[in-house]
Amino acid sequence: MKKILFITLLATVSLFAKVNVVTTYAYLGEIVKEVGGENVKVDVLADPTFDPHFVVPKPSLITKLRRADLLVVNGGQLEIGWLPPLLRGAQNGELNAGAKGFLDVSGVITMLNKPAVVSRALGDVHPDGNPHFALDPHNVGVIAKLITKKLSLLDGENSAAYEKNLALFLEEWNQYLKQYDTKMGACKGKKVVQYHELFTYFLKRYEFELYGNIEPLPGITPSSKSILKTVNLMKEKNVKTILQDVYHEKKTAQFIAQKSGADVIIVPHDVGSVEGTDTLKSFYNTIEMRLCR
Ligand SMILES: [Zn+2]
Repeated sequence: MKKILFITLLATVSLFAKVNVVTTYAYLGEIVKEVGGENVKVDVLADPTFDPHFVVPKPSLITKLRRADLLVVNGGQLEIGWLPPLLRGAQNGELNAGAKGFLDVSGVITMLNKPAVVSRALGDVHPDGNPHFALDPHNVGVIAKLITKKLSLLDGENSAAYEKNLALFLEEWNQYLKQYDTKMGACKGKKVVQYHELFTYFLKRYEFELYGNIEPLPGITPSSKSILKTVNLMKEKNVKTILQDVYHEKKTAQFIAQKSGADVIIVPHDVGSVEGTDTLKSFYNTIEMRLCR
């Protein structure tokens, strides 16, 4: 009896084997869940309350990678500072760049802020251009399409299900975007500065007036000279809003705000960065509510 039960169990497991997907960031995990549905199991590596450029390596992350059938990365070198050693530790050849189980979504994105000269010695953490394209909700659909293609390739038996999930998701998402774009219209022309280049895609999409970054270069701590420059610029241009992420020190932004009479707004950079942003929609809704009301 036990043996029969065991065999039945084994058959059930293989019949309903899910594709083990690991994503580097939470927003990618949410998109995979939308199109993968019941045929995938999703694990996310980065904690969304920490700096996305530098994820603390933990043995549990290596274990997740070792078991994965598919690794979905943001790309644009956002993971360059932390993912390679984890992949070396996992020794899962299926996940190497170019292998069947690897997907870099930046390939379907037009990158902003490509530097003319790249020098890591200058501390530039964006050598391929700005990798924070997840902040623009219009990029979600193209990424969902790319992930669907990959899941269908890896798990052909369920490709019809993936295509169906995608169609339903896109219909709903496009509807959501229409309402979202209307709401964001109220913020067109709003003058802001940001700490890091995190929100550039979002600000460009919704036609904010971005007067620069508190960091003199992406990843470089502001000096007292560069801080003073920001204060003067904000006074001159009458900029009253500073966008601050959840993970950098907040004293500099608060100092600049005090000197220039501006407000500091904490803006999430990923699904789950602040409370109440556990889904794609609540993530983008929170940005709209914090920036635009
Ligand atoms: Zn960055």
